[in-house]
Amino acid sequence: MLARSPRGRRPPSFAVVVACAVLPACAAAAAPTSAPGEKALHAWEGGDSPAALEAWVQDRLRRADADVARVLGAKGARSVPNTLRPYDDAVNELLLAVSQSSVIYGVGATRELRDKAQSLTQTANAAYTALNLNQGVYRALAALPSPADGATRHYLEHSLLEYRLAGVDRDEATRAKIKALQDKITALGLTFERAVHDDVRTTVADKAQLEGLPPDYLASHPADPEGHVKITTDPPDGWPAQRFSNSAELRHTLFLAANSVGYPANTETLRALLATRAELAQLLGYKTWADFAMADQMIGSPAKLAEYLAGIDAASREPGAREDAALLSFARERDPSIQKISYADLRYWQEQYRRARFNFDSQSVRPYFPYAGVERGVITTASRLFHLDIRPVSGVRTWHPSVTTYDVYDGPVRLGRIYLDMHPREGKDKWFSTQPLAYGVHGRQLPEAVLVCNFTGGTSADPGLMQYGDVVVFLHEFGHLMHHVIGGQNAFAGEGAFLIEGDFVEAPSQMLEEFFHDYGVLSSFARHYQTGEVLPRELFARMNRADAYGRASGQQRQLMYTSVSLDFHTLTPATLDFDAAYRRDFERFNRAAFIPGDHFWASFTHLNGYSSNYYTYVLDKVIALDFFAQFDARNLLGGPAGMRYRQAVLAPGSTRPAAELARDFLGREPNLDAYRRWMLAEFDAEAKASSAAR
Ligand SMILES: [Zn+2]
Repeated sequence: MLARSPRGRRPPSFAVVVACAVLPACAAAAAPTSAPGEKALHAWEGGDSPAALEAWVQDRLRRADADVARVLGAKGARSVPNTLRPYDDAVNELLLAVSQSSVIYGVGATRELRDKAQSLTQTANAAYTALNLNQGVYRALAALPSPADGATRHYLEHSLLEYRLAGVDRDEATRAKIKALQDKITALGLTFERAVHDDVRTTVADKAQLEGLPPDYLASHPADPEGHVKITTDPPDGWPAQRFSNSAELRHTLFLAANSVGYPANTETLRALLATRAELAQLLGYKTWADFAMADQMIGSPAKLAEYLAGIDAASREPGAREDAALLSFARERDPSIQKISYADLRYWQEQYRRARFNFDSQSVRPYFPYAGVERGVITTASRLFHLDIRPVSGVRTWHPSVTTYDVYDGPVRLGRIYLDMHPREGKDKWFSTQPLAYGVHGRQLPEAVLVCNFTGGTSADPGLMQYGDVVVFLHEFGHLMHHVIGGQNAFAGEGAFLIEGDFVEAPSQMLEEFFHDYGVLSSFARHYQTGEVLPRELFARMNRADAYGRASGQQRQLMYTSVSLDFHTLTPATLDFDAAYRRDFERFNRAAFIPGDHFWASFTHLNGYSSNYYTYVLDKVIALDFFAQFDARNLLGGPAGMRYRQAVLAPGSTRPAAELARDFLGREPNLDAYRRWMLAEFDAEAKASSAAR
């Protein structure tokens, strides 16, 4: 669910990834979107060959070099047009090169293309690092008089800050060392993620072990003559089996398969990545990588973060324990031999508990969420909320025939383009993310981004009945897309929305998740795929109530991931025992039983993208819920809050500090009130129900 984007002007640490075998070449052919003679905006316009991708990236890097030469060679007094503009032109070229090579690395049609894209992602990142350590460019920017315009001033000041954080003022030998360490970090991060995406595990189940799974799953997983069924670790394959199979043995096997991905291959890669990060942080004068990675974020430092997380823990620990206790006593009624719920069984028992306690079977809503209907519904919801028009575009050449393309309009004005690459295929990135393709430059270049997801569906034989949680993920990713497009209308590429403080980027995405819990929103698109019947209100109410159960323990798990990401970036890498550190964090925040052999960290790709800063999700959940509470619950899409939010929070992109945007919209500092209400919604509903019964 992460938006892989470079954060700050620091060398982007995100990476992308991909995996195994060879796909048939992309068959989609349509007119390229660039006019003849114009530089192609898209890496894929030249076709699927690695050579074409290389030529495209190298052309971007040459253009960036020429822009840097313009910065350095400017005559006369330094000004925005002769210095900041060509600097931003260079930034724009490098953002295009980094973004698109890393997207192709994740979705490219062939292994050869993905290999080439991986090496070009390193090349483009190295060029970005070099720009960040270029003293001539730094001096040119520092010589600029302070711009009168607030947005431009913020861009300049923030760029100078990032230059200093990158180590631009160090001597030549130190800068060379910094450069070498940054390049190594990029390479190791790419290797780490790639190992995850190349590592699809297959479990062979006996047909009988699939009892509990829905008919459409069984139909798409026929047994071979020996009665065996293969289940991979791909999300649409492995996740339903872990949630619904009545076989504890199968759930355990699938859990271990999923949590062995990347292991043991990533052990030494991760150790080298963490060690290199620690070395770089210390070279730059920071105690740990976490201190360095938080220096330009909203939170500011690990010390401030610790204080913040203590508040989140205090709010979620006790209700989380109550949820877990209720779950355990329920499971014991069914199976008195259970002492502690196995972590491999957690989702299974939660599902069973929701069925028994709330009369809600999550299978019952899937027929109302066929993929195509959900896609239309999410787009329509975002259009209404943000007062936009999102129209399909046909005949656009992309990297794969299954990718769909939409243009985003504000009245007659086109704001940007979005691409949806939504279903798994062999060799494709296995996660759910939003990735930028182009940053907007007002009047010159429109922002573009892509959703890279692994939802069910995508074939004519399969309606793609989604789990309701998948619909929430779809909304989440769409929140990122809208942030990028709406916030990509500024004067400079470097003012794009994803370039705001990295620990704010999960607020607009998590804010949009909340729209799932409104009947008016859902009933506008949740229709039975066979009968067309609208999702009944009564079923919706049971789903909402059941979904509210487990929020506090879910937040405790977010604290576990947060701690893993922090611990791995603060403890000494050479002596760090990943399994032991993970287990400690697991046991601090979980009441389920740890399963020996769980090497979750080996496929925790957020360790590359977010490094020490996984806390972003927790911090932004609080902000997102505070934002959502400003909407009129009786008229979510039609009230004035949508436009006000669009203008105050999304449209500024990164032209102002994130904390100011939040304050502007809220009229105060964010607080935990809405977060607490959200987390305790089920307890409150229960209290109301029991007092009404009395
Ligand atoms: Zn996200």
